[in-house]
Parts: sequence; C-alpha cells; structure tokens
Amino acid sequence: MNLNDIIAQLGSLRDNSKDSLRADPENEIYTADVTACETAIRVLAALVGEGCADLDGVLDILQDYRTLAKQYQNLHRKFEIPGKPIHKDGVWHCPACNSRVSPNHTHCHRCGKKMGWKR
Ligand SMILES: [Zn+2]
Repeated sequence: MNLNDIIAQLGSLRDNSKDSLRADPENEIYTADVTACETAIRVLAALVGEGCADLDGVLDILQDYRTLAKQYQNLHRKFEIPGKPIHKDGVWHCPACNSRVSPNHTHCHRCGKKMGWKR
C-alpha cells in the first residue's frame, strides 16, 4: 500500500468518525479518532511532499537524514569546535592529526581542525 492509498483510507476513517460524531457530538473517542486521522494524514502528506511514495521510501529518507545528521556532527566537531594544540619538542601540533601548526593558524592546514589557542 503506498502512502497516497493510506492517506485516502485514513480520510475515509476520519469521515466515518465524523459521521458517528454527528450522531453523538459529545463522544470523546470519535473526536480523538478524527484528530488522530487528520494528524496522521498531515504527517503522511508531509512525507509524500518529501518524495516518499511508500514505506521503503520513508525508511530511506529517515536513513538519509540520520546519515546527514552524523556528517554534520562530524563537520561541526572538526571545523567549529576548537581543539587545543599540543606543544611538544618546542613546536605546536594539531590535536587531530599531529601536523605542525603555528599560533597564527585558525585551522590546521593539513586536516582543517579548528585550533583553540586560548584557554
Ligand atoms: Zn590537523
């Protein structure tokens, strides 16, 4: 079953609950059913808007987002979070790749690690 089929089915369930609600306007279960169906339809429509057609498409896009988040975390850690240079044998070294760095370098010229000279 693709997402548009599920959306159509949920729309039918919502309409059935609305019909039941007309006969019993105070019924909290029917009210909750309508809200749940409408929310689920919006969630699925957003996924269709992202290019998902079915469950495999949803799982693929979630995996893509997880992969992108991990890549972003790694880039952030490397280029935005400073690492304290290590002083040994009279020279400063990058804490990430051990390459020589100078106090006027904002980033390691070899690996790109941000240098945290202060503190
Ligand atoms: Zn480096």
